[in-house]
Amino acid sequence: MSLEARKIRLLMQLRRAGITDTAVLAAIEKVPRERFVPPSFRDQAYENIALPIGLGQTISQPEVVATMTQALEATRRHTVLEVGTGSGYQAAVLSRICRRLYTIERHADLLKEAEARFAELRLHNITWRRGDGSRGWPEPRRFDRIIVTCAAELTPEPLLEQLQEGGCLILPVGGQGRTQELLRLRKTKDGIRQEELGFVRFVPLVADPVERRSAG
Ligand code: SAH
Repeated sequence: MSLEARKIRLLMQLRRAGITDTAVLAAIEKVPRERFVPPSFRDQAYENIALPIGLGQTISQPEVVATMTQALEATRRHTVLEVGTGSGYQAAVLSRICRRLYTIERHADLLKEAEARFAELRLHNITWRRGDGSRGWPEPRRFDRIIVTCAAELTPEPLLEQLQEGGCLILPVGGQGRTQELLRLRKTKDGIRQEELGFVRFVPLVADPVERRSAG
């Protein structure tokens, strides 16, 4: 079966799984997932599975990417932050939906490959940085939407601070080897409202150690 035929099959699977947002489906149709996976996995690029991308990290399952993207409710007017660039696939999908996409990754090598893919695909509305995304974007900035693609034990406070009122944050919460839950947190003028979106499995969010001040 050709990659094109496999892609059509995947899009049908996503529709059956409840992905109805046409902007999300169109973005997934447009972004060539085979360019975001190692060459040896290219023929599996349109299977509904997560695949390894090196350094113990994975490109998420297409259904999870689609579910999170749909839940984010992003539009052309929105500035979005992603924590965990990885292969750059989720960033590429989102960049076709939102106005500008900021993405942060702790592994320099993964980021370098993602950068090359953004250039090759002429995705000019993406800004990337190497760093610890649990601390938020390194410069003060507000985001209309935030998506975290690695699992934290708790919601990182700086992300809630950088979220615009009226905006939402999608993230998996839970430890490794335990159940992780996908959450949508909406920032309202009365505080944070939480919704549970189902169970998922993500690689861990690894926060840089906070520098300790030595006593003496
Ligand atoms: N969105 C990615 C999924 C990558 S897996 C894709 O579409 O391919 C999650 C990524 O989060 C990994 O690349 C991992 O290195 C990164 N990560 C983990 N902890 C992080 C942190 N504190 N800050 C930034 N990136 C982090």
